[in-house]
Amino acid sequence: MIGRFWVAGLAGALCAAPALAAPDTAQDIRQWHAQQQRVLTLANRILVANAVTCKDVRPDYGYLPANMSPAAPAPLRAVWQEALGLDERPMAIIVLKDGPADKAGLRQGDHIMAVAGTAWGSDKERRQAFDTAMSTALPSGTLDLDIEHGGQTRAITLSGRPACKVDVVVVRRASANASTFGNRVEVDGGLERLLADDDELAFVLGHEIAHAVLEHSGPGKEADTRNHDRRAVIEREADVLGVRLMTRAGFDPAAAARANPKLAHANRGPISRLLDLHGAYMATNERTAFLASEGAKAKAEITPR
Ligand SMILES: [Zn+2]
Repeated sequence: MIGRFWVAGLAGALCAAPALAAPDTAQDIRQWHAQQQRVLTLANRILVANAVTCKDVRPDYGYLPANMSPAAPAPLRAVWQEALGLDERPMAIIVLKDGPADKAGLRQGDHIMAVAGTAWGSDKERRQAFDTAMSTALPSGTLDLDIEHGGQTRAITLSGRPACKVDVVVVRRASANASTFGNRVEVDGGLERLLADDDELAFVLGHEIAHAVLEHSGPGKEADTRNHDRRAVIEREADVLGVRLMTRAGFDPAAAARANPKLAHANRGPISRLLDLHGAYMATNERTAFLASEGAKAKAEITPR
């Protein structure tokens, strides 16, 4: 697929970045980057605050590395270089404020030139050795990195913090949806734009992260997500847990009921088809009332971490 490059997720799991097709401009890429930064900032709060309740946990280091694939065509390299200064070298394209990387002194645009003493190199062998060393180091909870900034190299140590093991990526689609498959959440660019209020966007993230935590989808579960009755149960469960996940992270659960009519309206219909895999499982007004009630319960039950 033209334009696909590879981004290591926040905790390093390799995941495909949004497929970036040929007409991308540097401005498009910068816009995607700003959206990804906002969504990751909110999602990360939820994933860290709820780590104690998640079955699958991994260390989070609070930064997103990326690098151009050596196989990428020249025009694509040029536009990513222009937009973010990205080339083949691993670079921190996002550093979350007050996260482990930020506290250790990593800054956006810094290159990661070695991990645990294994240096990155542009030849295939050294790239692979670096990737292997990174894969070994990531689950350990400690990252010893050599970073380069403005021609200066220095060593830093990042102490990971436990976070639920869910990848969250913004995809450049104009529609206002979000979807989850397994432990990968995709947020449409259109949804990020629709919900300018962080608490409202945090509700959608909470709902999708709840699908991942509850293992609602993934290989072998396609029949579940297509079955209307099962879907109604799944979506209700994701709403119930989602408002609690956001509340634990310090977001206002009352925002869930505020977000729902906007989502329903944006998806053009009297019934919300919203939130991922679709399924008109609850009329908009009914779901708004349900979310208001669950939001009030969550507020009474939960003290934010
Ligand atoms: Zn859902």
